[in-house]
Amino acid sequence: MPDSHAIAIVWFRRDFRLTDHLALQHAARHAAEVVPVYVLSTWTGPHAWTGVPRQKFLCGCLKSLDANLRHQGSRLHLRRGPAVGAVEALVRETGATLLCYHRDPDPFGREVERQLEKQLKPLGVELRAFTDHVLHGPDEVLTQSGTPYRVYTPYSRAWLELDKQAPRSDKPKFKTPTGLASEPLPDLGTWKLEDDGCGMLEPGERAARKRMLDWLNRPDRLHRYASDRNLPAAATTSRLSQDLRHGLISIRELYRRCVEARDDAPSAGARKSIDTFIKELAWREFYMAVLHHFPEVLDEEFNPDYRRLPWGTDEEPLRRWQRGETGFPIVDAGMRELLATGFMHNRVRMITAMFLSKDLRLHWRLGESWFMQRLVDGEISSNNGGWQWSAGTGADAAPYFRIQNPWTQTQSYDPDGAYIKQWVPELADVPARRLCEPPRGGDDRLARKYPPPMVDHSEQRKTTLEWFKTHKR
Ligand SMILES: Cc1cc2nc3c(=O)[nH]c(=O)nc-3n(C[C@H](O)[C@H](O)[C@H](O)COP(=O)(O)OP(=O)(O)OC[C@H]3O[C@@H](n4cnc5c(N)ncnc54)[C@H](O)[C@@H]3O)c2cc1C
Repeated sequence: MPDSHAIAIVWFRRDFRLTDHLALQHAARHAAEVVPVYVLSTWTGPHAWTGVPRQKFLCGCLKSLDANLRHQGSRLHLRRGPAVGAVEALVRETGATLLCYHRDPDPFGREVERQLEKQLKPLGVELRAFTDHVLHGPDEVLTQSGTPYRVYTPYSRAWLELDKQAPRSDKPKFKTPTGLASEPLPDLGTWKLEDDGCGMLEPGERAARKRMLDWLNRPDRLHRYASDRNLPAAATTSRLSQDLRHGLISIRELYRRCVEARDDAPSAGARKSIDTFIKELAWREFYMAVLHHFPEVLDEEFNPDYRRLPWGTDEEPLRRWQRGETGFPIVDAGMRELLATGFMHNRVRMITAMFLSKDLRLHWRLGESWFMQRLVDGEISSNNGGWQWSAGTGADAAPYFRIQNPWTQTQSYDPDGAYIKQWVPELADVPARRLCEPPRGGDDRLARKYPPPMVDHSEQRKTTLEWFKTHKR
């Protein structure tokens, strides 16, 4: 098709790659020149929904995207937000008549899209929005009567049955006009944040692609995913969550490669493992669909029966939980892994979230916000879904009377204490079996420099069950 536009803008948002990038491919096909832009947010200081780890990862992603674009003779243009004004100014400056971008899965991002459309259409700009972060947009997976699913299992069945778009491997070729102004690449100072030394996986498309290919080419992990994914010490999950969150890999390509790996798998067990992994990708899209159809989950409990629970908000127990000083080894290991790496294993996310909401009865929203501040993969929908699941208030949540016991969870998923000892060095010399039960006898400490458990789990369990019964609508 001949170029119908002289200049197109590609607005990068959370899709920091060049491979299988629908917006970029479209712009390159339909315009003589393409201007890649990212709009930096303008908030500064502490933020309830993000923090140092994710901003640091974002900086790395932008740097790598700019380098990859420069390699193609282009560059990333950085502008300061708010996004609507910044993109409109760039349109006026360049005379662009086409704006391409990927739809955001969050209500905040979609609101920006609506405003942008209102602002740019009267200027004669063509807006092309693509679904990129998911295999199926929220309105594609609906019940037979056209309503959104509220429960995961039927959603996933419908999701699995739908045809999936194939990835496109061609890297688009395009020219970029020169001389346009750009802000410098950001660092933490851009948001007045200070590095807290948190480590993380390498940002950028190249590193993420390597992680994806390594994961798919390691049968010892992929083919055992169904059985080993709950063992935090084994570290056998894909570790792709931050890459999906920042669009460093294409979900279409990941899915396609999974299907190929399943076709080549040597046994029924290996195929089952790959299917289990694919179903986790469906969980991600389920929670995005829940957030899309029920955006109120950001303000209140999904299940109306639990909207009047008098959750606590005390700072001292919250701080002990955040710092990994609860005296529950598996909880502390998870919270310290989060502080040190911006990541926490899924099983341990469930244990720590249930501990905050069911043992301490602190508001799950405090935990939700802390996770968003610390997780490199912080995804509003999955995080809210995971928290409401754990608190027993969410879509398809664990019922309130299912309260995980941190001691027996340790027995099941970290029986030799390897994960705990990695993150809680004070417990290095404590025999593993003692990490699976509350301290007994005269001494209530597992080790001299380790605090006693801040609550008695079995007592808290009883109180919490009564509490739910009393305040449930
Ligand atoms: C309280 C709580 C909060 C969470 N917050 C987030 C979050 O902010 N961002 C996030 O990406 N995930 C979140 N999860 C889901 C899950 O813990 C992570 O996706 C997973 O640990 C990432 O590790 P991985 O990439 O090795 O996962 P793998 O086991 O390899 O799974 C592959 C991919 O599937 C998706 N996935 C897996 N499990 C889930 C799930 N339960 N819900 C939604 N998607 C899933 C992720 O994109 C993940 O990368 C949360 C879970 C809980 C219980």
